[in-house]
Amino acid sequence: MDHQVIIVGGGIAGLTAALNLQKQGIDYLLLEANAEVGGRVKTRSVDGFLFDRGFQVLLTAYPEANRILDYNTLNLSTFDPGALLLLDSGKTSVFGDPLRDLTTLWSTLVSKGASFSDKIGVYRLSSRLRNTSIDSIFGKSESTTLQYLKNLGFTNTIVEAFFRPFFGGIFLENELTTSSRMFEFVFKMFSEGSAALPQNGMQEIPKQLLSKLDSAKVYIHESVASIKGNTVISNEGSYTAENIVLATDAKVLSEIVGLPNPKYTSTVHAHFSTAVAPYEKPLIALQSNSKGIVNNLCVVNKVSQAYAQNDNLLSVTLRSQLPLEKVESTVQKEMKNWFNDAENWKLVDLQTIEYALPNQNTVSENSPFQRKENLWICGDHNMHGSLQAAMKSGRLVAEAIVKEMKS
Ligand SMILES: Cc1cc2nc3c(=O)[nH]c(=O)nc-3n(C[C@H](O)[C@H](O)[C@H](O)COP(=O)(O)OP(=O)(O)OC[C@H]3O[C@@H](n4cnc5c(N)ncnc54)[C@H](O)[C@@H]3O)c2cc1C
Repeated sequence: MDHQVIIVGGGIAGLTAALNLQKQGIDYLLLEANAEVGGRVKTRSVDGFLFDRGFQVLLTAYPEANRILDYNTLNLSTFDPGALLLLDSGKTSVFGDPLRDLTTLWSTLVSKGASFSDKIGVYRLSSRLRNTSIDSIFGKSESTTLQYLKNLGFTNTIVEAFFRPFFGGIFLENELTTSSRMFEFVFKMFSEGSAALPQNGMQEIPKQLLSKLDSAKVYIHESVASIKGNTVISNEGSYTAENIVLATDAKVLSEIVGLPNPKYTSTVHAHFSTAVAPYEKPLIALQSNSKGIVNNLCVVNKVSQAYAQNDNLLSVTLRSQLPLEKVESTVQKEMKNWFNDAENWKLVDLQTIEYALPNQNTVSENSPFQRKENLWICGDHNMHGSLQAAMKSGRLVAEAIVKEMKS
């Protein structure tokens, strides 16, 4: 055999698996189809701007990220807790987390996006989830997020002004059919830490993982077409190993090993440049009108200046696809309801991301990886769509392989 382990796919799961194998002295080879590792976590540098792939953030409370990443070297910049609500009336209102940022106490209390009972409800939910472990969250019975919020007694006002656009932007679906377990997990992570961006873009995360690996063991431009027994066949050649880890997304996986086609969510994301920032704070803005095209936006350079050298850069998540020629004018017209200068926003990037997240209508942490003889399957799709899940799946598959090899 050429190697003890071959890892197919250099996304966050594959990189984490490699790092954990390396720590245990296992000989591995990582094959990545693209020119760079990172998978869905990417940053492009174009004309003085940094364009992340979609709107992605690192939640600093993720236990796996705390284990494996060096936050200091990533130079993390954080969002303010809470959100800027773009209300139907054309007014804006800051809905903060006064426990973490006292300056938002007043604006939160008078915010029109929620009733007094809603505000108490958010506080209670936050306290309860802080005292609930991640394991017990994923062990609970699940419903849709929308049903869960209704059961907790939240009013339509806060659901439409805050929960739907905030969590719709994270789950990349606006019906809030995503499992309540995922809602509780993400809510807990937001209450226990910050949403952050590495100073030079999200791709600094996979770059940091790669920097810890032996570069001679990572081959790029290696698109694996099939696996036969212990042999992995790519566009460049064939390699053998005792164990093979498949760390691709679930769609590719079904093509390589013939698993059923998975369900997943897609998203459309745009970047706009503007000389005048629509607001100054490092806050996520949410549109409460669910019929609008814009779900959420932020002025990325107010979080980390390196994202825009000259103008301001707006990261805008859209709710659906529009013909290219209509995107700029539709967003400008819609956002003019809140921001006078929106008519001058310039579309500088548009991304349609077909496979963004695995379907999350039911999620669990029971099977962080799958195994069929010498074939091991890891990646976020085994658990839920997050960096935490990709890292945990990658770590646990490596630990299981090491255990078996050393027994
Ligand atoms: C728009 C968007 C927003 C998101 N927002 C967040 C967020 O805010 N916070 C968060 O925690 N998570 C977020 N996520 C989810 C997070 O990015 C993913 O959960 C995570 O990156 C998945 O990592 P992975 O390694 O499991 O899979 P992937 O990143 O899909 O990695 C698979 C790798 O396999 C490679 N590959 C595929 N086919 C082959 C082949 N045939 N041969 C060799 N290599 C192959 C791919 O090129 C890729 O590098 C978001 C994702 C998207 C797309």
